[in-house]
Amino acid sequence: MTDLTKLTLTAAKKGLASKAFTSVEITQAHIAKIEKNRALNAYITDNFEGALAQAKEADARYEKGNAGKLEGLPLGIKDLFCTKGLRTTAASKILGNFVPPYESTVTQNLLDAGAVFLGKLNMDEFAMGSANLTSAFGPCMSPWKPKEDAHKQIVPGGSSGGSSAAVAADIALAATASDTGGSIRQPAAFTGTVGIKPTYGLCSRYGMVAFASSLDQAGPITKTVEDAALMLEVMASYDLKDSTSLDVKIPSYTQHLTENIKGLRVGIVKEYIDHLKDEALELFHQGVAWLKEAGCTFKDVSLPTTPYALPTYYIIAPAEASANLARYDGLKYGLRVEGETLDDMYERTRREGFGDEVRRRIMIGTYVLSAGYFDAYYIKAQKIQTLIKNDFDRAFKDVDVLLTPTTPTDAFAIDETPTDPVTMYLNDIFTVTTNLAGLPGISVPAGLSKRGLPLGLQLIGPKLSEQVLFNAALVLEKAAGFKGSFDALKHIHH
Ligand code: GLN
Repeated sequence: MTDLTKLTLTAAKKGLASKAFTSVEITQAHIAKIEKNRALNAYITDNFEGALAQAKEADARYEKGNAGKLEGLPLGIKDLFCTKGLRTTAASKILGNFVPPYESTVTQNLLDAGAVFLGKLNMDEFAMGSANLTSAFGPCMSPWKPKEDAHKQIVPGGSSGGSSAAVAADIALAATASDTGGSIRQPAAFTGTVGIKPTYGLCSRYGMVAFASSLDQAGPITKTVEDAALMLEVMASYDLKDSTSLDVKIPSYTQHLTENIKGLRVGIVKEYIDHLKDEALELFHQGVAWLKEAGCTFKDVSLPTTPYALPTYYIIAPAEASANLARYDGLKYGLRVEGETLDDMYERTRREGFGDEVRRRIMIGTYVLSAGYFDAYYIKAQKIQTLIKNDFDRAFKDVDVLLTPTTPTDAFAIDETPTDPVTMYLNDIFTVTTNLAGLPGISVPAGLSKRGLPLGLQLIGPKLSEQVLFNAALVLEKAAGFKGSFDALKHIHH
């Protein structure tokens, strides 16, 4: 029998529907492979018994002929989504033993569609990071190895590193992820997977552990564009439990998926191209050529606020994080370290419970929100955020989508990791702007770097342009021929 873990989500769905195999079989195949790939540290918490029980129920529903859209398909869930009765940690010690009494809306939507949950995926602590090195449960590794050095440990990107590593290593058919400044798209680019951050408000944030509420958005990481379309149409929904949820009807992206993008107007962002070097620039030109072949037209556009995007993000995101993380006080959830007084208990709990990066963000956040600096930093950042939004509005008067690289470079090795936080923050240069403007962006694998690691291209569109993004991404995916040829190039441990 074919290796069931190698299938795309879409192919697995067809296989289940045609009874070529059962959900129990494909779930067992994934469980066995998770066991073999423990070195990746992709999963924080397993849900094997639960998954097999879900798979049995799914098989019964196939028998009865009332299968859901994701019936019986084994997925990995980023450990940021609350799952009822299943430990949810946000990769933090402070939530180390938190077992939610409720289900996030996104995971509920997946369960309602019949999905099987293999377990909870590793991530950067509270989704703060770009390399999955800040998890309290240890770093997660990419299954990718550079051509020349089969022993080098490559990062899977962050914060959704568990999601990207699991999908790339075939230990989940697809995964949920979240993106506050690039955490779906950057790990997807680093691992040769597809990741879409939808329009802000498309997926409910209910039950998703909050980092920066005005920027956080859920989305999938998958093996193919078609799989991403399928995941997103299930994950997204209007939800009264999230006041920022968009009251729109979610279209069937898979049904409307087409490679016919003739006449699509594509913008090239001058300020982004200025940043590009070598292979990233080459790949970008290749992307332009592919879209040209498909009948797209091109126009140079300018986003003059680009140099201010990262500084703006690193004021707004930590400000919101410091407010959101105030709830971890040793009383309500997770860890408590006893102290002499109540204040002492708070301090000890938070010092023990939060890692360095999280504490750094809390300090930045409380500083920029403090009475003396509020106007100089936070209010100023909000004003620049408006200018960033205006830049995009202006650009989208002339073009339908923007083509950009996803990241400035390929993935780095653990021993090449930037040691100062600011260099690490530069990873998000092409991704944070869409979060600040609430826009959708998709990363699609497009080629390999000289040392044989994946590189991604990103498409950004105006609000609710997900279908256009999927269609254009499909063209890039086909042109890059990533699906077939990539597997052979992967030097992954099986
Ligand atoms: N790397 C960025 C950060 O550290 C973005 C993280 C994210 O999107 N969750 O904040």
